[in-house]
Amino acid sequence: MQNHQRSPLVCAASRELEDLRSVPKLSGARFPAGCRKLMMSLPGNSNCIDCGSVNPEWASVTFGTLICTRCSGRHRSYGVQTSFVRSVRMDTWNYDQVLAMLEGGNGQLKGFFDRHQLGNSSDPSLFSKRYHTKAAKFYRINLSKHVENVSDLGPYQGREASRGRRQAEQETLNKRPSSSGSLCGQSSDHSRNNASLSPQSVSVQ
Ligand SMILES: [Zn+2]
Repeated sequence: MQNHQRSPLVCAASRELEDLRSVPKLSGARFPAGCRKLMMSLPGNSNCIDCGSVNPEWASVTFGTLICTRCSGRHRSYGVQTSFVRSVRMDTWNYDQVLAMLEGGNGQLKGFFDRHQLGNSSDPSLFSKRYHTKAAKFYRINLSKHVENVSDLGPYQGREASRGRRQAEQETLNKRPSSSGSLCGQSSDHSRNNASLSPQSVSVQ
């Protein structure tokens, strides 16, 4: 999990994302296979974030999380403003949506909920309301902004890189070309810029 920015999985996902970037957002395309593999490798993504069922195949794009069929019904009832539900296998996806899934993750949201005392399923009243809390709203707004920022950085280089790069943008703006077209073997300049950066600037946490 530590070296995603240069792994073959990230490179494959990055190429798929660039292809998807040129697809009209409203039409979208199938969830790309490499991006799906990368998404499934994220901590917590092998279980539904709400009930723990294995191999969840639905997503709350708003939160960048994977959920099971049963929980997807409940998320739909929240309304699309609160939780936008898509099927990983059956629906079409656009660039921003796939990127949200790669930059979100069940483990990340679970950690956030835990820190806000919203992660304990033994308190059913609180657990069922957690997506309607101010904290959840904060998370989804910041994930959305984060995705926008990562998108602006150019071809995707993985979670660690995208977190470091936001910080690095200010420092390296004058040191590298403005073009962000190089990636994964074509040139490692951008990755090198991030090599020593701490991933502490994760805006969604
Ligand atoms: Zn579930």
